[in-house]
Amino acid sequence: MPEFVLVIEDEKEIRDLLRYNLERAGFRVAVASDGDDGLRQVFAARPDALVLDLMLPGQNGLEILREVRGEPATQDLPVIVLTARAAEMDKLLGFEHGADDYLTKPFSPRELVARVQALLRRSKPGKESPAIQRGALRVDAQSREVTLEGKRLTLTPREFDLLAFLARHAGRVLSREELLRKVWGYDYLGETRTVDVHVRRLRMKLGESHPMIETVTGAGYKFVAPEPATS
Ligand code: CA
Repeated sequence: MPEFVLVIEDEKEIRDLLRYNLERAGFRVAVASDGDDGLRQVFAARPDALVLDLMLPGQNGLEILREVRGEPATQDLPVIVLTARAAEMDKLLGFEHGADDYLTKPFSPRELVARVQALLRRSKPGKESPAIQRGALRVDAQSREVTLEGKRLTLTPREFDLLAFLARHAGRVLSREELLRKVWGYDYLGETRTVDVHVRRLRMKLGESHPMIETVTGAGYKFVAPEPATS
């Protein structure tokens, strides 16, 4: 399967040029012309690499980078930032959650393609995310298996993603909107009931351990890490 590159760039000319050249190099390409749509697509489409313009309508490139680096699902996503000015570059270099590479406009499309290829090669030896253990619950992101007291739970892919996300963020209140955006990958305003339905199913499957998913009235859900069993 061809590797998948998402381009977030508001200037149509550059966007088209990037799409053309990346596709010609054999990549599958999706584009977004503003930051909000771009961020939505990052979580919805899970690209293999991201080409990110800095100055964007909606959320700007730095905000997007911060969101991407803040989520376990996307924190290792290779990102190339496009900047219009060297001054922006200075700001970026001091930025804590940096990009993997930078290009100053104007750049040659061929150079960009080469950088994307290099980044994807570097990121290949997959960084394995370790399994999460929360009390008797163990969530293994590699094998996508969940065990509770050593017994394997049968979950749908979405149930797995939701439980893994909740467990990863144990102790934090997560709003239905955030869960929709980061687990389902879209802004599904008005459809937050979807989250409730999945939580209800997860609780059924968790049986007696269901209180680990706590409802926080008016706010959302919180995963409560049980006390580690003493032996
Ligand atoms: Ca721009």
